Amino acid sequence: MKRACRNNTPKPMEIGHAALHMTLIKNKYYHMNTNNIEHVRCLIIGSGPAGFTAAIYAGRSNLFPVLYEGLQPGGQLTATTEIENFPGYPEGISGNGLMDDLRKQSIKFGCDIRWGVVTSSDLSAAPYHITIDEEKEITCDTLIIATGATAKYLGLPDEKKYAGIGVSACATCDGFFYRKKKVAVVGGGDTACEEALYLAGLASHVYMIVRKPFFRATKIMQERIFSTPNITVLFEHETLGLFGENGVEGAHLVKRRGQPDEEELDIEIDGFFLAIGHNPNSEVFAKYLDLDETGYIKTIPGTPKTKIPGVFAAGDVADPHYKQAITAAGSGCAAAIEAERYLSAKKL
Ligand code: FAD
Repeated sequence: MKRACRNNTPKPMEIGHAALHMTLIKNKYYHMNTNNIEHVRCLIIGSGPAGFTAAIYAGRSNLFPVLYEGLQPGGQLTATTEIENFPGYPEGISGNGLMDDLRKQSIKFGCDIRWGVVTSSDLSAAPYHITIDEEKEITCDTLIIATGATAKYLGLPDEKKYAGIGVSACATCDGFFYRKKKVAVVGGGDTACEEALYLAGLASHVYMIVRKPFFRATKIMQERIFSTPNITVLFEHETLGLFGENGVEGAHLVKRRGQPDEEELDIEIDGFFLAIGHNPNSEVFAKYLDLDETGYIKTIPGTPKTKIPGVFAAGDVADPHYKQAITAAGSGCAAAIEAERYLSAKKL
């Protein structure tokens, strides 16, 4: 499958690859290497806030970025309704509205946005080889990985039914909507404790639903939970389902499932927060990069640089801590600036 370049495609002599040539297909130009594989200077994977911000900066630096959108064009924010904490929108903006704006801004500065999923990669030597949809090969001088992280859910049909109307996987994002209300947090690790403590500052009461008879969280987090008066920990409880007319009004729970004294009970809540972890979308690059135990791409602290020169990671895929649209956008910006510096230093 042939891919089109933008109208403002640079002439071959404008970039440092003597081996590249131009091919005109259906009135559009492609950069091709000697093996007739399309070559780009800056390839961005992912169309969330990190990917589009990288695209805006790379486009304005004349890197002629090509961006592959993946299965979720616009990224995670397209799954939510109102965004109130992205700077610059005092009235708030819908998730889709924000991502449409970022997309338009990327296109304005020449980003070539394409459908496609990266199915494999070879980062063993530059230029790096990327395969799209198992068929198209592309090479690149710089690669910005902005593939995000997917929140884990319990797999209950009610999680989908009440998505955005009571079910959330992000307390920082949605906690504000539950001020003075009752909420539940599912999970027993450090993240769940952090989310519960954060929500306890907003909500009237927080239930923690913990499957095991103990926390996995560190001692200090446990102590903070036990000393917070408006948090009740429900050890050995699991969620069977949610109920409510126009949103979540409560959860059906089971205590000590499968035991002789198993017991079903309901709790009244307005919000149901999942805090059982995320899956960083790093598998296709895992062979070549350093990942932490969960799969987040490790970068040189304070930078988007991975251990491979010219390969950068931005946004949630490299961020086990903050996972916010603005932090993703910030690291996308940093990745594009580093990509430009790398290309410039290498005279590519
Ligand atoms: P993502 O937005 O996750 O985008 C990843 C992109 O990578 C997607 O386009 C996907 O298609 C693509 N991709 C993945 N794998 C591949 C592949 N193999 N090939 C090609 N493309 C690929 N944050 C806030 O700041 N405020 C909020 O109010 C807020 N609300 C949220 C509500 C919900 C329901 C959720 C789930 C998250 C919310 N967040 C919020 C968090 C925010 O959405 C993320 O922090 C942010 O989207 C991360 O941006 P990103 O660019 O790193 O990745």
